[in-house]
Amino acid sequence: MREMGWPAAMPSIDRDSIVPIYQQIYEELREAILTGTLPELTRLPPERTLAEKLNVNRSTVVHAYRELVTDGLIEQRVGSGSRVARAAGHPPRSADVPWWVTLPPWRVGSFPQVLGELAATIHGERISFVQGVPPVEPSPLGELAKSFARVANDPSYVLTYGDSEGHAPLREAIAARMRSRGCETTARDVLVLTGSTQGITLVAQSLAEPGDEIIVEAPTYPGALQIFQIAGLRAIPVAVDEDGMRVDHVEAILRTRRPRFIYTMPALHNPTGVTMNDDRRERLVTLAQRARVPIVEDDPYGELVQHPRGPLAALSSDYVVYLSTFSKTIAPSLRLGWITAPRTIFERLLLRKQSYDMATSLYVQAGVRDYLETAYDAHLPRLRAELEARRAIARDAIAEHWPKTMRLAKGGGGFYLWLTAPREMRARALLDAAERNGATFLFGEAFFAASGGDHNFRMAITPVSREELVSGIERIGAAIASVGAR
Ligand code: PMP
Repeated sequence: MREMGWPAAMPSIDRDSIVPIYQQIYEELREAILTGTLPELTRLPPERTLAEKLNVNRSTVVHAYRELVTDGLIEQRVGSGSRVARAAGHPPRSADVPWWVTLPPWRVGSFPQVLGELAATIHGERISFVQGVPPVEPSPLGELAKSFARVANDPSYVLTYGDSEGHAPLREAIAARMRSRGCETTARDVLVLTGSTQGITLVAQSLAEPGDEIIVEAPTYPGALQIFQIAGLRAIPVAVDEDGMRVDHVEAILRTRRPRFIYTMPALHNPTGVTMNDDRRERLVTLAQRARVPIVEDDPYGELVQHPRGPLAALSSDYVVYLSTFSKTIAPSLRLGWITAPRTIFERLLLRKQSYDMATSLYVQAGVRDYLETAYDAHLPRLRAELEARRAIARDAIAEHWPKTMRLAKGGGGFYLWLTAPREMRARALLDAAERNGATFLFGEAFFAASGGDHNFRMAITPVSREELVSGIERIGAAIASVGAR
């Protein structure tokens, strides 16, 4: 067996090496500690003594010990010198406890399955209003297939990784679209993402630390809430009304708190469908600048607003981190989104994105770039028209089949209907009844960081056919009657 403690662990140094002497000492001691040659709580020789023994400067040993302190391998107390620290972190392992029992605590949100449900393939007979996916008609498929076919034979798209920042021509195309919406974006400001979900995770982990506070809307996108909760962030909710986020509430909160960022969806907000008015947009950006708190603008639906406003990012490139995606305007299976951020934090986001997946599929990026050039601008107005038509159909069906006590959020547009049931009806009870009747939707609590949503629910009007939209609303109408609402 190897000898334990000193002098077995006495570092040997090589004066001819290019490795600095402090580093040689540090590395040898580190190995001795990690392998147990220097067991826990062993006293290390005073710096001066070790320096004399090794015939080096005292500052060299001081430097080596400091590195070991930084690693948590030794501890130093004034008066009692240095000693090997106790191995930290892990609870004792017992022979009959398997390793997975001693894993660190698992942080999940209040509704851990929500991202899975929003993504899952729909099976079964029920008419499902759960997923925010684009409608089957108008279909992008024909033109999309042509775009992919055009790039499919180029090995430089198909057989390689590509830059982590994203495919340069796609970054340029995205920047040009953002410029046409009033932003000053250049291709260098665009980081391509594997879905904007990746971007929400990126900001949650790069702009904040566990325990930090952030501001979110109430209600807000449950997928984002789940990501923030996994990241250990504490969300302060701010109400949304028919003109968007209550910016006066944000102002009040910023008087006393220092949130890391403000997460908002100013265009066709998920779930209420409202779009923030111009006055609030300007006030929010001004507030953020004054309080020195960045805004994270999540904008998957911005290009689907009937009379589009510029994004918040057009009002400030320094204080707005902007996220968007092709999931709602083309198809979620592409898993293609982007983020634009001030140059000061771009590298921070880029390195973390690399740690997730190195790069987003280059084949997909090249195919979508081709589609943007050839077909996207014709597709968007058709999609907007379809959303409008469906909303009118849904409104009429609700008026016909539901009691007046069920209220639809005012001023909405886009993919979702946000509904409020009368006070005596819980949305979860209605969901149970609706599922028995062959229709399903998302209950409201999942959209709130704190309490709220008991009487609310969200219906996406897009994942079903127009006929199913009506018959699903009829089925829910029967469910409303069965739980006793007037
Ligand atoms: N943000 C919001 C507000 C969303 O509604 C969604 C999708 N439901 C996403 C982000 C995630 O989109 P992606 O498919 O790009 O990850």
